[in-house]
Amino acid sequence: MIEKIGSTRIIERGVGDAAGDFFGAFEIWKENLFRTLRINIGNQNVFTNEKLSVEIVNSNRHLGQITDSGIVLQNKILVETNENGPMKRHLEIQLPRGETYRTGDYLAVLPIHPIEIVSRVLRRFHLSSITRIEITSSTNTFFPTNYPVSAFDILSGYVQLTQPISKKPIEILAGLCQNGIEGISLTNLAGDEYENEILDKRINILDILELYPSCKLSFAQYLQMLPSLRVRQYSISSSSLWNSEVVTIAFDVLRPSLNGVGQCYGIASNYLATLNEGDHISCSVRASNVKFHPPEDTTIPIVMTAARTGIAPFREFIQESAVQLSCGTEVGRTNEDFLYLDELNIWSQLPKIQVKSVFSRENNDGNKYVQDLLWEDRNEIANLYFNGARFYTCGSGKNLGTSVKTCLIKIIAEIEQRNEDEAREILEEISLDRYSVDVFT
Ligand SMILES: Cc1cc2nc3c(=O)[nH]c(=O)nc-3n(C[C@H](O)[C@H](O)[C@H](O)COP(=O)(O)OP(=O)(O)OC[C@H]3O[C@@H](n4cnc5c(N)ncnc54)[C@H](O)[C@@H]3O)c2cc1C
Repeated sequence: MIEKIGSTRIIERGVGDAAGDFFGAFEIWKENLFRTLRINIGNQNVFTNEKLSVEIVNSNRHLGQITDSGIVLQNKILVETNENGPMKRHLEIQLPRGETYRTGDYLAVLPIHPIEIVSRVLRRFHLSSITRIEITSSTNTFFPTNYPVSAFDILSGYVQLTQPISKKPIEILAGLCQNGIEGISLTNLAGDEYENEILDKRINILDILELYPSCKLSFAQYLQMLPSLRVRQYSISSSSLWNSEVVTIAFDVLRPSLNGVGQCYGIASNYLATLNEGDHISCSVRASNVKFHPPEDTTIPIVMTAARTGIAPFREFIQESAVQLSCGTEVGRTNEDFLYLDELNIWSQLPKIQVKSVFSRENNDGNKYVQDLLWEDRNEIANLYFNGARFYTCGSGKNLGTSVKTCLIKIIAEIEQRNEDEAREILEEISLDRYSVDVFT
């Protein structure tokens, strides 16, 4: 019709099927249109105005004094989940630009919550995954304020969602229950039942809100009740002499377990387990206890006792010694729970590096735990003790610290011919500069 009154048709009419590839048909028609226009206006680039430009304005959270991110170089399984415990993984990370470390330091990591738990919170507050909120606060806050942010991002990366609820917030929530019976039952949880019903089961605020649906809590009140996301520390398992800008860590992956309401997650360990090569990770080096470094004088002997992922800093110590010496090869026993077996086998071929292991669930000629090995080798330990050795213990075993300490006291009592109290005093004295413990649960 427009043609009839004098217009010039430049391309054929485009047709698309709404039930089929409608947008594809439109794209073909549009391409054709611009190709024709380009010819008509002398080949100028008519796409210029369509360009999308992206500027990254803020890619890092500023929490727990972590302001930059590193890059994942490798993430591999050390030991699969088995009857002895959870999966253990090894992660290699390029540190944030400009950061280096000392052998013995920790890596502090700011994790991100799994999507499942964030989605549960959004559902409880009738929010969607694309809801944006703007937070304002009359006092200092760790939240980003005065500009729109995604509710999803706030929940996944700024607050601690799975912390067991403490007594005071339970009382507050009880007061907000519209249903009297729910209010009373909730109040009881802040009393004698607290330990068994809340702490042991790791019940968090969200669990309570789901269990007591009449509780009228706004999203703002919920955010206000949550603590800021906590950094998790990991013993660095590489030596700065190997690479001062790259660290490795070894960690247990705490798989989700049911707590009767929702799932109980180990947030950081599960987050770390999902990272892929090239992913960014908010992290930073933290100096360890001043004593938890290998002695500068490399002639001082060192005795290291570890359980499970507690081997991490000692892999680092031994790697450091191995770099200082030179490389040998081969052999050793195999056990699926022996972390870093291959490397330790190689390093233990070097003069002056001795690796001994014991596995509590195996038949070990009467030796069950590290303290049994220490006691069996007490003469050697005594020698090292008189030679000014440094002693280190690291691990996630519940009783590791106490058992090793008790054994060392027994050894000191025997070699110094003292009673237990006197031996304990001697150990406390040497603890000032020769005995360091780093035990986590
Ligand atoms: C100085 C220091 C050094 C450390 N070095 C290491 C290291 O080298 N390697 C290492 O693996 N860890 C290390 N840790 C522990 C580590 O920092 C974390 O605490 C650990 O990874 C658990 O964090 P998470 O976020 O996964 O668990 P969180 O979410 O913080 O859960 C807290 C606690 O709840 C319990 N929990 C949660 N979910 C489960 C579940 N499904 N099953 C059983 N228990 C559960 C666990 O006790 C867990 O520690 C170290 C800690 C410290 C303080």
